[in-house]
Amino acid sequence: MEASLDNASELPDAVPPDTSVAGTGYTTPTFLQALIDADILIPTGVDGIYGRSGVYEAIAEGMNALVTQAGADQHAEVLRFPPTTPRKDFEDSEYLKSFPHLAGTVHSFCGNERDHFRLLERLEEGEDWTDQQRPTRVVLTPAACYPIYPVMARRGPLPPEGRVVDVFSYCFRHEPSLEPTRMQMFRMREYVRLGNAGQILAFRQMWIERGQALADQLELRHMLDVANDPFFGRGGKLVADNQRDQKLKFELLIPVNDGAPPTACMSFNYHVDHFSTVWTLRTSDGEKAHTGCAAFGIDRLTLALLRQHGLELGQWPKTVRAALGGI
Ligand code: ATP
Ligand code: ZN
Repeated sequence: MEASLDNASELPDAVPPDTSVAGTGYTTPTFLQALIDADILIPTGVDGIYGRSGVYEAIAEGMNALVTQAGADQHAEVLRFPPTTPRKDFEDSEYLKSFPHLAGTVHSFCGNERDHFRLLERLEEGEDWTDQQRPTRVVLTPAACYPIYPVMARRGPLPPEGRVVDVFSYCFRHEPSLEPTRMQMFRMREYVRLGNAGQILAFRQMWIERGQALADQLELRHMLDVANDPFFGRGGKLVADNQRDQKLKFELLIPVNDGAPPTACMSFNYHVDHFSTVWTLRTSDGEKAHTGCAAFGIDRLTLALLRQHGLELGQWPKTVRAALGGI
């Protein structure tokens, strides 16, 4: 969430528009424009979809490796999925109940030759051709941890110590924006915990502290706050208020965008038994399992580093470059 924080004044203001961005040596209207001018982000004509330069990727990879290092003692099971989720699992997850506005579904042409001819004709005429597309059995993954819950449920009850899973995926959310931190496709690295309530809460607290330590190590100004997800509609407001009251979601916020409140770059979530209500996830003693996750927005963290340390790697603190694997 880009929360408006009562205590945001504790943070230095994000650099306002029309001031120079550290390290670039020139004045630029917005952070996004500075990134584009420096060929760090490559615009595609669609807001929130960018190509990335080698320098950007080196920072992102260094960031991801640093998260791996921070979680080395977790002995997590590493699972990687392509950035898609089976449509059936997605439907079961109730994502559409909460976030219909963010979902991305994959459609394909499934017609015959006559339909193909019609499609080409429409393209030629500059008319809408998309009604020729039919939904496929896949949707785009909205959060890296989504594909794993049904997989874990199929394995049967959890071992007594529960499980820790390490996931990483490009994610899609339909939220086009001119804020570079709000992309439509971005990378999310997560540690996911499945177990009983006590195990999840201890895990979340540990990762909140590790997340803060990571931000300190990277010399990023930051603060922690309670947050809520952007639940859709009027009913969604109640769910969001409840999530906040129960402190189910914490975010580590870092100033990145021009004149905007600080941006959530990590989140620490407690889903209670939501996923075991949807799928048969049980603890070793047959109770509904609880789940939680620590999520690192690899692209947002990359942008935070570029914002706070400048667009020239050469001018970054040496310790920060070393922490990112000597970039
Ligand atoms: P927001 O409230 O800003 O939409 P969030 O904190 O609710 O984001 P989560 O659902 O917790 O997002 O996702 C985990 C992490 O993924 C976030 O902490 C953030 O770093 C990253 N993330 C979320 N949405 C985006 C996006 N549109 N572009 C880039 N990174 C994102
Ligand atoms: Zn998650």
